[in-house]
Amino acid sequence: MRFINRSQYFSPEELKEGGIVAYFSMEIAVIPEIPTYSGGLGVLAGDTLRAAADMGLPLAAVTLAHRKGYFRQHLDANGNQTEEPQLWSPEKTLMAEEPVVTVTVEGRPVALRAWRYEMEGVTGHRIPICFLDADLEQNDPADRALTDYLYGGDTNYRLRQEAILGIGGARMLRALGYKPSVYHMNEGHAALLAIPVLEQELHGAGLQTATERNLEAVRRRCVFTTHTPVPAGHDRFSGEQAYRILGAERAGVLERFGCFHDGLLNLTYVALRFSRFVNGVAMQHGKVSRQMFPEYTIDAITNGVHAGTWTASAVQAVFDKHLPRWRQDNVTLRYAIDIPENEIVEAHAASKAALLAEVKRASGVEMRPEVFTLGFARRAATYKRADLLFTDPERLLRMAEQQGGMQILYAGKAHPADEPGKAKIRRVIELSHELSESALQIVYLENYEWRLGALLTGGVDLWLNTPRRPYEASGTSGMKAALNGVPSLSILDGWWIEGWIEGVTGWAIEDHDDEPGEANSLYEHLEQTILPLYYRDQGQWRRIMRSTIALNGSFFNTQRMLEQYVINAYFPERRVEKAGEPAEAEVENTVAH
Ligand SMILES: *Cc1c(COP(=O)(O)O)cnc(C)c1O
Repeated sequence: MRFINRSQYFSPEELKEGGIVAYFSMEIAVIPEIPTYSGGLGVLAGDTLRAAADMGLPLAAVTLAHRKGYFRQHLDANGNQTEEPQLWSPEKTLMAEEPVVTVTVEGRPVALRAWRYEMEGVTGHRIPICFLDADLEQNDPADRALTDYLYGGDTNYRLRQEAILGIGGARMLRALGYKPSVYHMNEGHAALLAIPVLEQELHGAGLQTATERNLEAVRRRCVFTTHTPVPAGHDRFSGEQAYRILGAERAGVLERFGCFHDGLLNLTYVALRFSRFVNGVAMQHGKVSRQMFPEYTIDAITNGVHAGTWTASAVQAVFDKHLPRWRQDNVTLRYAIDIPENEIVEAHAASKAALLAEVKRASGVEMRPEVFTLGFARRAATYKRADLLFTDPERLLRMAEQQGGMQILYAGKAHPADEPGKAKIRRVIELSHELSESALQIVYLENYEWRLGALLTGGVDLWLNTPRRPYEASGTSGMKAALNGVPSLSILDGWWIEGWIEGVTGWAIEDHDDEPGEANSLYEHLEQTILPLYYRDQGQWRRIMRSTIALNGSFFNTQRMLEQYVINAYFPERRVEKAGEPAEAEVENTVAH
């Protein structure tokens, strides 16, 4: 496979020459100090950019400043969640860009500026991330708040934000001098970038003059990744909202090009109509998406996580010793199959100690390092079924008593408007009070964010995932666990269909149409296989830890994922395009990989 030279350094100036990938995402987990992400989508975006920086991919990213951040979660003793904004200051953290661009939203001009973060990869290559900010004096006071809240406000607020991200973002990149050859919409939120790209194709002629040929020209430049496995998850707006907020010209062209369904503007259809390559985020999710949108060709590229970010420091030291090139070349992790097992076990013990110290600090509960510890942390969306494990509390308690003890760690935020999600948190916390005794300890940790996520996925002995099928498009936290030698016990949905090898990388909860059936399979695996192995066959347990790293760490990473995007989506012609240079000249910039 021919590929860009990973050591090639692109300065911000060089990036402006053209041929870059422009990556748009409503949320990006850039660094823990910038609280502008809510969960998996943002972490995936951040991990994608970290991999792009490592690989030296010519890429620039766009997101919103979200000055009020995503919220900090507080939980009282009864498990009631309250939320507090996490203000942050782009002024103190990022570099100011000069250009100001304007987008007309609901008939008013909204001026936008941008703040730059430069993400640096393992070889020193940097990629710019542009945070759009509407908090400018010249804007109407209501418009100044448009880049404040991630997933806040009503659907009017959401559509205005999406106009800013897509239309403002594409304009800002051009104002900064970038000439993208590929635009990547990370989820439908970014789909409105199709409008400025179409405008560019029209060279000043009005949008109402756009033809199928112009649409085709836009399609050649756009790539869309969908993350949503159910119709209700896709952003939809009434025709009235679309015409009022986007204006008659833009809404009209979207309607004419088939982006309205049942009278509603559906941003997923915008993205589908305007993209030449569309993918789901796991093989199964590709299938589900093809059923949902049968008139489109939909591929699949399975998600990953950034290996250097999600591997705990003690495990990193083991990889550095045995697989010195692993950070530049994640495939090398396949050779973890040769690492002495005791080194992995010792490194994991250090991660577990760090996690248990945090549990003590945060909750006062002293957990024991020798006791089997199970982790469950993710957004408290109802489909994730945080309480499936508690379907039969007596059985759980009994197995803990009989087998040698069990410790269970939970974490996760519910969206502020998600009352059923909040009820799940309350239920888990209630049960943790009722059930906790010497053989079974349960703790729900407050404010799940990525540092806590890293401690949990690195430090527990088993990672549990119990989504209702087919709602888990991919899931990524189990991939973080795998990098740390932590096997999964999971419903066969999303990435786990591909990552699961029974007894080698973890265990599958069998498919049942009813929850009691699934819960029973979960319990049987714990009682009959997992707890007995952990307490009475350490040799086999160690082999499972090691094969989990070798088989799943080496594949479910964003480096492999991004290489697939490069080959299949960004540059299917298999060469790097740089504006103004003939293809032959590019051959010298490529290496066999
Ligand atoms: C990895 C991660 C997620 C996504 O995990 P899922 O398994 O997809 O639910 C969400 N939030 C945080 C803080 C994470 O680190």
